[in-house]
Amino acid sequence: MKSIAVFCGSSAGNDKVIFQDSYNLGKILAKRNIKLVYGGSKLGLMGQVAKGALDNGGEVTGVIPGFLKTKEVVHPNLPELITTKDMHERKLKMHDLSEGFIALPGGFGTFEELFEIITWAQLGLHHNPIGLLNSNAYYDELIAMLKTMVRKGLLKKANFDLLIIAEGAEELLDKMANFQPLPVPKWINKEQT
Ligand code: AMP
Repeated sequence: MKSIAVFCGSSAGNDKVIFQDSYNLGKILAKRNIKLVYGGSKLGLMGQVAKGALDNGGEVTGVIPGFLKTKEVVHPNLPELITTKDMHERKLKMHDLSEGFIALPGGFGTFEELFEIITWAQLGLHHNPIGLLNSNAYYDELIAMLKTMVRKGLLKKANFDLLIIAEGAEELLDKMANFQPLPVPKWINKEQT
């Protein structure tokens, strides 16, 4: 993986471990020479991931829709900043630029990005690894919910397994590097992926 898109909170939250883990993920991406692709904001956990990468000489690309590109939001110091016309174009661009995806803790925006990218994976629209960084047990209840969905027969175990879960960034990146994608579903042909 040469580039990874990170989805995470635009708020800082109130958990010091999560705040630190966000910075640390950016730092580890830089150390592994993996480009960070993210939402281009200086705010919250997003700002921390970017800071961790930039402080350690990492490559960073921000992808931000025009309407969010205000002084209060946009990171002033990114080596590359791409402006998109809307949120949809932004997600597509982040997908096109990335060979893997990681969700750190976050709110609705993070959940939406995570579930869209995993839905695309379950449809065979991409074959890149998707990691969930369960920083300070933030996602325990979500993981329990996903297991309920499998138990109730509403989520295939193979699709649940598309989500690579780890407590720490190094372990997560190692697991993602060993990811074996699912075969393309029979009802989708190669041209549709
Ligand atoms: P949330 O988890 O609700 O804070 O939303 C964070 C996610 O949504 C990020 O990964 C961004 O891609 C996007 N997002 C939400 N708010 C902003 C913002 N103020 N600036 C840039 N991106 C944002």
